[in-house]
Amino acid sequence: MELLEERIRKDGIVKEGNVLKVDNFLNHQMDIELFDEMGKEFKRLFADKPINKILTIEASGIGIACVVARHFHVPVVFAKKTQSINIDGEVYSSKVESFTHKRVYDVIVSKKYLSPDDHVLIIDDFLANGCAVNGLIEIIEKSGATVEGIGIAVEKGWQIGGKTLRDQGYQLESLAIVESMDPATGEIVFRH
Ligand code: 5GP
Repeated sequence: MELLEERIRKDGIVKEGNVLKVDNFLNHQMDIELFDEMGKEFKRLFADKPINKILTIEASGIGIACVVARHFHVPVVFAKKTQSINIDGEVYSSKVESFTHKRVYDVIVSKKYLSPDDHVLIIDDFLANGCAVNGLIEIIEKSGATVEGIGIAVEKGWQIGGKTLRDQGYQLESLAIVESMDPATGEIVFRH
């Protein structure tokens, strides 16, 4: 998606350790008009899927997921990160290693909000090694719901998450795929 690539070129900061910082429009300050265009694009890409729910993971997926949901007219559920399972009632859970914080979280969703009738679109801000998305897939599978697709804002194409998910047969749509980025020069190359 040209608009997102332009914005990453303009405002993205390439950090050491394979991290792209996009705090100016996605991860801290949020550009809702851009999110709205992203929602429109996901709706086009998943138009033929019977999606009735969006699932994301706190915190940075929530903002995008909410704006995307306006285009699908469906509710958003976000998986909560916790270190002790202390939510009321029963939950589905999985373990996710955070790429940016380098620690393992239990991730939970209440059984009230996912069921075998659900057809779920997973939305997240970044895809790197795929830990977050795999944790969400595990939760969806435990609930008996169906994964209809995965929508990502920014995929880092050299990390294994994207290839692994596509090889497994999931419809994975990333609006910008970074092929490479150089912390020394700040240069960012996109895959088309
Ligand atoms: P994964 O679980 O695929 O390894 O990493 C994806 C998760 O880590 C996303 O939910 C995102 O919050 C975070 N993440 C991974 N790489 C980056 C990055 O380069 N920049 C930012 N801002 N977040 C990232």
